[in-house]
Amino acid sequence: MDIATQYSSNAALHRYEHLYIGGEWVKPIDGGLAESIDPATGRPWAVVPMGGVEDINRAVAAARQAFQGPWRRMPGHERAALLRRFADLFRDAVPELSVLEARDCGGVIRDLRVSIAAQAQYYQWFASLADKAQGRTIPIDDSMHVFTTMEPIGVVGAITPWNVPLFTTCVKIGPALAAGCPVILKPSEHTSVTALELARLAHEAGFPPGVFNVVPGYGHSAGAHLVQHPDVSRITFTGEGGTAKKMLHGGIETLKRFSFELGGKAPHILFADADLEQAVNAATAMAWRNCGQSCALGSRVLVERPIYDRVVDMFRERAKTVRVGMPLDEASRMGPQANEAQLKKTLSYVEIGKNDGAELVTGGRRIETAELANGYFVEPTVFAGVNNQMRIAREEIFGPVASMIPFDGEEEAIAIANDTPFGLTAGLWTRDVGRALRVSQRIEAGMVWVNTYNATRWSAPYGGFKASGWDREMGIDALAPFLENRTTMISTTGQFPNLYA
Ligand code: NAD
Repeated sequence: MDIATQYSSNAALHRYEHLYIGGEWVKPIDGGLAESIDPATGRPWAVVPMGGVEDINRAVAAARQAFQGPWRRMPGHERAALLRRFADLFRDAVPELSVLEARDCGGVIRDLRVSIAAQAQYYQWFASLADKAQGRTIPIDDSMHVFTTMEPIGVVGAITPWNVPLFTTCVKIGPALAAGCPVILKPSEHTSVTALELARLAHEAGFPPGVFNVVPGYGHSAGAHLVQHPDVSRITFTGEGGTAKKMLHGGIETLKRFSFELGGKAPHILFADADLEQAVNAATAMAWRNCGQSCALGSRVLVERPIYDRVVDMFRERAKTVRVGMPLDEASRMGPQANEAQLKKTLSYVEIGKNDGAELVTGGRRIETAELANGYFVEPTVFAGVNNQMRIAREEIFGPVASMIPFDGEEEAIAIANDTPFGLTAGLWTRDVGRALRVSQRIEAGMVWVNTYNATRWSAPYGGFKASGWDREMGIDALAPFLENRTTMISTTGQFPNLYA
């Protein structure tokens, strides 16, 4: 189907009416159906099911049964085989998943195809971890044999956001399933479609019933109930810090465990000795990629003063070359904001930046050309003269807004970089190897890139310091949150003295 037909107002809505619970497609009991809006047109493009409290109860019961039944007892290599089959099916579905994700969240097809294809490799990696949950033998003395064994913790609730739905899902369900935990996935109410497609693939892969369940729904009902449910052992969540705090309250009664991947306000530091062309390639891309909707992006661009004016000019010129367009158009490099609320939020931060005294160098407006006027498109935006106390430098905007902050020397760069509640990612550009080491090791962030940005690998741990999160996703470390560590001590003598003799 050509692009114009897909985006036409006459195109039939994609219909998804069933939740996936206990290996079956079922209608919501106490939820209903909702329309999913295509952010490029502002019109509904799909109908999706919304589960409620009773649907979460059903899903937890099915997952619990799977946990007590086949899943935790299945040998790791058999779980691995199922995950590998899922990864193969996922790989074959990449073209279709990319189109659906582009419609649902507005990412451009050119980027999505690459990032979604890579997720097949992530699933393969997680499959390879399924028999690696190894314990240890602890030397004590001849009287006691001591060892640890790693056990899956139980039912896991995965709650995901709308900005990169398939990726945030992959790095949650991959390790949880590999560890032997059944999963209930509750995607964002804005982007449920690809989650339901994953259920279709899981069904085809042949996971035992209840091992993987998908219940789209609203945060305040389905999400909150999943968090409170006593039979859910861990919640793994990506989203806003404020939502994480609500979850902590909701989890108090059941002493719920949480893994969080929260916001970021990453410093992207350009030292004067950097390869400027490469640094600006990265810094502009990492301000505007995915329309600025990623917690990893370098939204604070720290530039050493001797090159500051030049870099601001380069950003201004580069902004003119960004092809903002319909997500399914191969020529588009930046799509819309993923929903109307996010568009409004970004535009409000443009006003905040201006009122706080930053200089709007370029952008800052909604795009109102004939083709894009109904979608949630916004111009690539650059603020200069920003200081780190301004709200646009402190708060997560989640729009294509670069806040450019000048600095003098290494010490000030590090001080500004760390002066934030967040600590997810950071980038720095320099030709000086000593400086690369010195600075990278003093930045308070879970992931630091030197002379590159946003490189990730399934085998490399990823997660936040400070308010950016708890636990790590990816890498071998990704398994730990989903495992319990049991220590067993066996006496070699069987002798126990009578203390009361
Ligand atoms: P959110 O954090 O409110 O929602 C994310 C997920 O949490 C969704 O699935 C939602 O249904 C669920 N949820 C919401 N309230 C819940 C609750 N009380 N209990 C359980 N689940 C709940 O994010 P949002 O509303 O989609 O976006 C709001 C802002 O968050 C955005 O403007 C953006 O700045 C930020 N955001 C950050 C990230 C990130 O990766 N750091 C991702 C998406 C959004």
